[in-house]
Amino acid sequence: MTFAIHGLAVARGIAIGRAVLVASSRVDVAHYFIEPSQVEAEIDRIRIGRNAVVDEILRLQASMMNKGPREAPHELTALLDVHLMLLQDVELIAGVKHWITNRLYNAEWALTTQLEVIARQFDEMEDEYLRGRKADLEQITEKVLRAMNGVASAVVPAPARTVRKKSQQDLLLDDTVDVPLILIAHDLSPSDMLQFKQSVFAGFITDVGGKTSHTAIVARSLDIPAVVGARLSSQLVRQDDWVIIDGDAGVVVVDPSPIILAEYGFKQRQGELERGRLSRLLNTPAVTLDGQKIELLANIEMPEDAPGAVKAGAVGVGLFRSEFLFMGRQGKLPNEEEQYQAYKRAIEGMQGLPVTIRTVDVGADKPLDKALMDGAHLNPALGLRAIRWSLADPAMFLTQLRAILRAAAHGQANLLIPMLVHASEIRHTMALIDRARVELDNRGVAYGPLKIGAMIEIPAAALTLKVFLKYFDFLSIGTNDLIQYTLAIDRADESVAHLYDPLHPAVLRLVAGTIAEGRAQGKPVSVCGEMAGDVSLTRLLLGMGLRSFSMHPAQILAVKQEVLRADTSKLAGWAEQVMSDDEPGLRMTRH
Ligand code: PEP
Ligand code: MG
Repeated sequence: MTFAIHGLAVARGIAIGRAVLVASSRVDVAHYFIEPSQVEAEIDRIRIGRNAVVDEILRLQASMMNKGPREAPHELTALLDVHLMLLQDVELIAGVKHWITNRLYNAEWALTTQLEVIARQFDEMEDEYLRGRKADLEQITEKVLRAMNGVASAVVPAPARTVRKKSQQDLLLDDTVDVPLILIAHDLSPSDMLQFKQSVFAGFITDVGGKTSHTAIVARSLDIPAVVGARLSSQLVRQDDWVIIDGDAGVVVVDPSPIILAEYGFKQRQGELERGRLSRLLNTPAVTLDGQKIELLANIEMPEDAPGAVKAGAVGVGLFRSEFLFMGRQGKLPNEEEQYQAYKRAIEGMQGLPVTIRTVDVGADKPLDKALMDGAHLNPALGLRAIRWSLADPAMFLTQLRAILRAAAHGQANLLIPMLVHASEIRHTMALIDRARVELDNRGVAYGPLKIGAMIEIPAAALTLKVFLKYFDFLSIGTNDLIQYTLAIDRADESVAHLYDPLHPAVLRLVAGTIAEGRAQGKPVSVCGEMAGDVSLTRLLLGMGLRSFSMHPAQILAVKQEVLRADTSKLAGWAEQVMSDDEPGLRMTRH
């Protein structure tokens, strides 16, 4: 039966495919397709992993028997029997073989997929005892996965497949391996998302998350349709169901009828045509009708994103979120050499265009390591995040500063500092930058010049710009956090997402004030939050005097189209009126 789930639109476009449900704790399991010739070897890997766990349990049972029944608690022997039974469960074994043979999933993916199928059946059981066996199933899956890690795989991951284009009607009937896949999880961390950069998935759906949560931001940078905050989707959708993601409307359609499918297929083709039309603007300079040159920059997460940014038409990187280099490493920080190489790769990847590297911004919804930070603080967004974290650990910060300074010898680089608010933090930061230079001088290591900028993303910073303009060469407005902190709305919490409003008069006043004051002092100001890539806001920002926008690369041409149609001399007066409204959103929709 067809039904729809509503969530938040985070990455545009339509994706149609089969659901792959992944438990949040299992996202780090490898997902790749194997070649048909590798099927037997993959099934063998599962068999070896499973046999290892069976042997371990049998050994444990034998040792308990040797000690005598008194030593072996009844509960434990019963539990081991249950584990053995689950390991020999016909449905588990047959299911895993099905995913490997018919869908060409790698062994770990097949095992966790079947785990999800059976876990759902346990969830639906009336009997409490049987429902409780789900935990046992998870435990044994975990053990088999661990045992498989010890098995050297002769299987080389096959390159991600390009999915053949088929008609929508064909798709519904299709049961082969060649169909797009949609990942559904309760939650995904930003670093989980990074793993999917080269992945097999054509779209993402999560139960939780806000529009400017970092998970959503990474989804946008992947440029594949995604919906977050689609509550209960991971429970309502079943493994392998057909789903449609409408990334523009934030809607997920489950089990679509042929008519609905045809409708979305049409929308999908329209989207592709529109992208084709926009691509003609690639080499057109971003200049408004009244001759204002506008800088359109890219936000990137990894050095490997740089060539894509150039291809998308960016004239530089306005925000390299360096924290992604620090994540998913079990808390082990990258050393100076690793960081230097990464920043150098980004700079070289931009082929002479400028790269603004932001110092690490971990904390809040970007934990360094999930296990290390979960539940550590009640209010992580107000805690030891970004520059606060860096200043709390000067040795770590100096390592990053030295790496960035060294990379700056290879091209145009700027340094950007997140979350500053106090004058003392600014002075402390500047002193550490000086010290990093001295340390490199003492080592006789070459480094390059850096322009230094501050992010304006806390209301208090936007209201005390004088001190920022005194110390910094440029400003970059982080609207994602500026909105979060101005309106007291957790950007990662879907339950308050309807109150997260870039057009709130207070937000507009802080953004416009920062642009005006920076320009008055002759200091460049850009916006690097998600507002910069939102085409419905381009004209307003131009009207406020903004001339530099940094966004995820996929948005650059759409924003350029707005720029080409704009006349800033007329927009300035209109922007004033919008800002003086009680509800600017209403005037914006009428314009
Ligand atoms: C912002 O806050 O707007 C920003 C660009 O930084 P981040 O999204 O990484 O917090
Ligand atoms: Mg921010």
